[in-house]
Amino acid sequence: MRGTPVWLASLSRQSTVIRGKPLSTSLWSQRTRDESAVLLRRLLGPAGNPNRERIFRMQITMCLHRAITAEEYQQTPDWFKTAQTTDLAGGPVEILYESEEGSLSTRPCLKPDKQPLDPRDPLLWLPLDCGQCETCQARKVAQDARDRLVGASPVYLSDQLQEVFSGP
Ligand SMILES: [Zn+2]
Repeated sequence: MRGTPVWLASLSRQSTVIRGKPLSTSLWSQRTRDESAVLLRRLLGPAGNPNRERIFRMQITMCLHRAITAEEYQQTPDWFKTAQTTDLAGGPVEILYESEEGSLSTRPCLKPDKQPLDPRDPLLWLPLDCGQCETCQARKVAQDARDRLVGASPVYLSDQLQEVFSGP
């Protein structure tokens, strides 16, 4: 949202075949996606600016980002307003809707590696940036700026970074 903090709501759906197992968003019908968008908007209610929204999916969750309003920003504590950005979320799997075009770093990786989330279901995976496509390069610029700010890259990304830089 071009630097504006956002409200976030997300939801997942359970499989009706295997109880307790998440249903990959890639299997959700358009009706389920539409109903989920309605539910996410209901969850946020009057919070934020509904004219500035992005709906995207990961493999398990569908998510709604809604930019906060200027009035809401004024109500945030000083520490929030002055805090430095210290991390960057990975890319989404697919952007389903956005009222304004997000920056390149918010786009899905064009050729993500897929980290399995459930060995029983190949549709449940976490996208790992390929590090090569333009969206990954945009995220890398932001991550490098973050790393300079905090003095180190996050340990939890070490395996991913090693994999990306070691090549295929
Ligand atoms: Zn990529």
